[in-house]
Amino acid sequence: MYADELKKIKEKGLYRSLTAHLPGEGPVIYIDQKPYLSFSSNNYLGLANHPGIIKEGQSALEKYGSGSGSSRLIAGTTPLHAELEQSIARFKKTEAALSFSSGYLANLALMTALPEEGDLLLADRFNHASLMDGCRLSRADFKVFRHKDIDQLGKLLSKKKSGQSAFIVTEGVFSMDGDIAPLPEIVKLAKQFQATLILDDAHGFGVMGSHGRGTAEHFGIESDMEIQMGTLGKAVGVHGAFVAGSHLLIELLINRAKPFIYTTALPAAIPAMCIASLNILASTPSLRAALIKNQDYFCEGLIESGFSIQNHHTPIIPILIGDAEKTVEFSRALFDAGIFIPAIRPPTVPRGTSRLRVSLSALHSQEHIDICLNHLKICGKKFGIL
Ligand SMILES: *Cc1c(COP(=O)(O)O)cnc(C)c1O
Repeated sequence: MYADELKKIKEKGLYRSLTAHLPGEGPVIYIDQKPYLSFSSNNYLGLANHPGIIKEGQSALEKYGSGSGSSRLIAGTTPLHAELEQSIARFKKTEAALSFSSGYLANLALMTALPEEGDLLLADRFNHASLMDGCRLSRADFKVFRHKDIDQLGKLLSKKKSGQSAFIVTEGVFSMDGDIAPLPEIVKLAKQFQATLILDDAHGFGVMGSHGRGTAEHFGIESDMEIQMGTLGKAVGVHGAFVAGSHLLIELLINRAKPFIYTTALPAAIPAMCIASLNILASTPSLRAALIKNQDYFCEGLIESGFSIQNHHTPIIPILIGDAEKTVEFSRALFDAGIFIPAIRPPTVPRGTSRLRVSLSALHSQEHIDICLNHLKICGKKFGIL
């Protein structure tokens, strides 16, 4: 039975397997002892290997041990968990925040603890799998709207029954397309129909806005945001996630969200490293400046080579290929040339929209990007994309 299912996956060109990566210098990774220039990491600011952050983790490991030993509500909360939550709230300018063991769990928590049976729950079609799973788990009346389609969202909201509560859930920066949600318009609709907006800013937090506070800062609408989720394993370079919002929201999640209640707390070394990372992130604007410089340089180079891309000014740059197998072959050819850019296929993205997903980092130098652009051009011609 397993073999049959696997055969079907292989026939569709959708087979996946795991490869061990070893970190090298900067964006270089080692696979089977060979170096590759990586354009695959969500470590946007290069903070995942920062010595100051690692040092904080080491001292917390020594003081608190390797594991937390229990869930947050039993005995898994250390002063470092509380300090991290205060740091996040301070940085995000919200009343409070709550940390989670992962973004996947934070999203399951939001979708199951907030919308209730009979409520309307509207989700962008391109939302992350964790949001979609959460929507399916929720007892609310769950509907999907076309990607960033404000008109359709408005129509769905207008069908809201009187007295019915409604929730809208969207990503800030979409993880596979790198485009930005039309948040001001969504906020306007949410106000008009008294709906609650839930923002997953996994890829916006640390990256977007002039201080890196995220997509809402980018649009200057932070005061309109009620519920913001972010991850600590991407730009922050550590692990875990958070929800930021009002004291009451956080209190309700602590009391009701099963993915918060029934899981072992993060080991104290994780919040220790997150606190250090947030301090660095807040006090080092040059990291974001380097990332933006790389985004602009890379996109200019792609356009010059003749790739048709949508430059959304985020570090996620998809190069659309279409066919799943061709995308894998393209990625393989780049790999053979020492460049690691993953092929993204269904079910992560809709059928016929397989792509190379480039993610840039402040760690890339101009020379790294030039090497990548050169090989993309060579392979682009070889595979008939250019
Ligand atoms: C990565 C990601 C998550 C999950 O976060 P983890 O901490 O990796 O579990 C949730 N939402 C989006 C949009 C993501 O990209």
